Amino acid sequence: MKVEIDPQSGFCGGVIRAIGMAEKRLAQGGELYSLGAIVHNEMELERLAQAGLQTIETDMLAEAPEGASMLIRAHGAPPPVYAHLRDLGYEIVDCTCPVVLRLQKDIRAAYERLHSQTPEGQLVIFGKIGHAEVMGLLGQVDGDAVVVENLDQISALTDGGVLRTDAPVELFSQTTMGPAAYASLIRYLEEKMTAPLTVHHTICAQVASRHDALTSFALSHDIIIFVAGKSSSNGKVLCQLCRNCNIRTCHIGSVKELRREWFRPDDNVGVCGATSTPRWLLENVAAAIENLH
Ligand code: SF4
Repeated sequence: MKVEIDPQSGFCGGVIRAIGMAEKRLAQGGELYSLGAIVHNEMELERLAQAGLQTIETDMLAEAPEGASMLIRAHGAPPPVYAHLRDLGYEIVDCTCPVVLRLQKDIRAAYERLHSQTPEGQLVIFGKIGHAEVMGLLGQVDGDAVVVENLDQISALTDGGVLRTDAPVELFSQTTMGPAAYASLIRYLEEKMTAPLTVHHTICAQVASRHDALTSFALSHDIIIFVAGKSSSNGKVLCQLCRNCNIRTCHIGSVKELRREWFRPDDNVGVCGATSTPRWLLENVAAAIENLH
């Protein structure tokens, strides 16, 4: 078997930056907590936990010691979370990705513009309901936006009159959504809307370019081993993209999940992953596949 790792797979810039900031802080000593998992990858979380990074959820904040440092991950957080952390006396280590920060700012500006023109205007976010980045975006406008995950949801909202097509709409996307799915949503609204529709192209460039590259990668290999944490939203989207091009796509979270029976002797194997998959894990998986026979 020949095994190749996708050169474009591995952490995106926002995750590299957040983990780098965490490691720098840990090297200085003191207690560092991440508010929610810093990356949706169990293996990398384990590595960082061994280095001293503790993960804590908002409802458990009272358990952290006074004066501890709290890290806001690359996804960002809603403004009330910052206020709450300050009230509790924690130091904030803000690792929000600069691309997400710009998106938050653009959403605030669009909301003000929309409502200064017409009170009926609506802001729509294409993203995963409940995802941390989406919660951070909603927090910029006090939750006054509609979140949709797919075409079925938006058509139910327009058909039910919840999302008015005769009032202006400003449309944004979570940074890690699929470009093809966003394009379908835009086409749908363009056909339905009688009032102005303003589309903001806010899928992260690093994510968008991976979609094209990953399509060719999945097509040019006999079998794809897609490595990502099971809770990674970007992982689910990219794995499905691979599966659409290559039916022999297997999603694993760690080396332990590899199965010898998936492989044929002359297979040209492709190993790839999400923006939350560390490069070291891809390398471990590739080495384990090479050692299967
Ligand atoms: S996917 Fe893009 S926007 Fe999101 S954290 Fe990574 S670099 Fe930032």
